[in-house]
Amino acid sequence: MSKTIKTLLLKLQRLAATAVQGGLSETTRTCGHPACACHQEPARRHGPHLYLTFRTREGRSSALYVPRPHEPRVRKSVQSWAQLWETIVEISHQNREALARSMRRREPPRKVFPRRKRS
Ligand SMILES: [Zn+2]
Repeated sequence: MSKTIKTLLLKLQRLAATAVQGGLSETTRTCGHPACACHQEPARRHGPHLYLTFRTREGRSSALYVPRPHEPRVRKSVQSWAQLWETIVEISHQNREALARSMRRREPPRKVFPRRKRS
């Protein structure tokens, strides 16, 4: 394994520890009190409130309310998800180049699951 790949795998591990798939969106809303000004004037609606939007395992759209104090952490997690994918794509480039080099040298194909000696 090349040094570059090892570095990328460490980066992947670091990012994966906090990465969250989803998008951030802000929305204003009306409350449960019919007499409140938010029901009369759109400008006096409550918020904006921040939500993390995502798809559940079942494929349904969902949203998680994000209290403001947690905004930096959630933004970082969403950013980590994007960086995670950039890193995976870079690993794929590196692996493909290694494959191409190996095939150009007409090396015999490596075993897919090489056995390792126990030490
Ligand atoms: Zn209200």
